Amino acid sequence: MKPAPFDYLAPTTIEETLDVLREYGDEAKVLAGGQSLVPMLNFRLARPAVLVDINHVAGLDGIGVEDGTLTIGATTRQRALETRLPGLLDAPAAGAWGLLPAAVGNIGHVHIRSRGTIGGSLSHADPAAELPAAASALGATLVVRSAEATREVAPEEFFEGFFTTCMAAEEMLTQIRVPAWPEGTRSSFLEVSRRRGDFAQVAVAAVVVLADGRVTRAGVALAGVAAATVQADGLVAGLVGQEPTPTLIAELAGDLAATLDPPPDVHGPAAYRRSLARHLLRRALGEAVGLPADRTVSAA
Ligand SMILES: Cc1cc2nc3c(=O)[nH]c(=O)nc-3n(C[C@H](O)[C@H](O)[C@H](O)COP(=O)(O)OP(=O)(O)OC[C@H]3O[C@@H](n4cnc5c(N)ncnc54)[C@H](O)[C@@H]3O)c2cc1C
Repeated sequence: MKPAPFDYLAPTTIEETLDVLREYGDEAKVLAGGQSLVPMLNFRLARPAVLVDINHVAGLDGIGVEDGTLTIGATTRQRALETRLPGLLDAPAAGAWGLLPAAVGNIGHVHIRSRGTIGGSLSHADPAAELPAAASALGATLVVRSAEATREVAPEEFFEGFFTTCMAAEEMLTQIRVPAWPEGTRSSFLEVSRRRGDFAQVAVAAVVVLADGRVTRAGVALAGVAAATVQADGLVAGLVGQEPTPTLIAELAGDLAATLDPPPDVHGPAAYRRSLARHLLRRALGEAVGLPADRTVSAA
């Protein structure tokens, strides 16, 4: 199929873009990498009157470090996190921020990652997408702007549900800010998908800080198990202050998995995804705290 007719605008500044979004509101759609939007246009699942192409907007693309915080512009390609981010990481922060290239490596195929943007993936809010889970585990801040105001939003506020965020029609995601984590932070991103490049059936992002053998801070999030990314706050509360033994990790993973009610699909019933979540949580946490793989598995 072909898209319904639309007008095409290609602003070159953030201010111009926000003015256009204010003028057209619900009638407009932002075009970033087009990897999700263009199929939706072709199937006429989206029929915007105006397409606002943000690929030529100055200042929206780029990766940097400001006062110890990692900043990623909304139109930064997913592939740039794999190719450019590792070169920018200094040793102390690398443990936490390394979660991003690990997560991105699971997105589709390299051609998709070369066009798809960070902001597009987060704004699209697919509950099985990798980047929302990584941003949640890392405690990122999402910068949302309109012509009138700038908001700094936490992931748990940003992701409201199935393909739904807290952004209003006249707003746009402009930047993602990832805080520094202490030296020695370790992370793990694991997922199961039916074929390489498919969306995750379940994915787990885990970031853990250890001091003197105990967990002092952690962030854990799951994709593919609910209508939106699940932030595992209860599990983190059970982990912090404790020695992360295989038994404790298995117990916490089991407790969290038991609370999940993922929608059944053609690949299996809810129990299948619950089981995947339990196994992946155990393995990802085991990896993040530095347990040998066989000890994590034997604690089943
Ligand atoms: C074959 C295939 C396989 C894929 N596999 C995966 C996968 O395994 N995992 C995964 O996570 N994704 C996957 N994707 C999706 C891919 O990651 C997309 O790139 C991503 O979902 C959307 O990013 P985009 O830049 O292409 O956004 P677009 O498609 O341009 O836009 C997507 C939506 O976000 C809105 N939007 C975009 N940018 C902004 C912004 N800055 N502010 C506000 N709204 C904005 C658009 O208006 C639109 O509604 C796959 C895509 C394809 C085609």
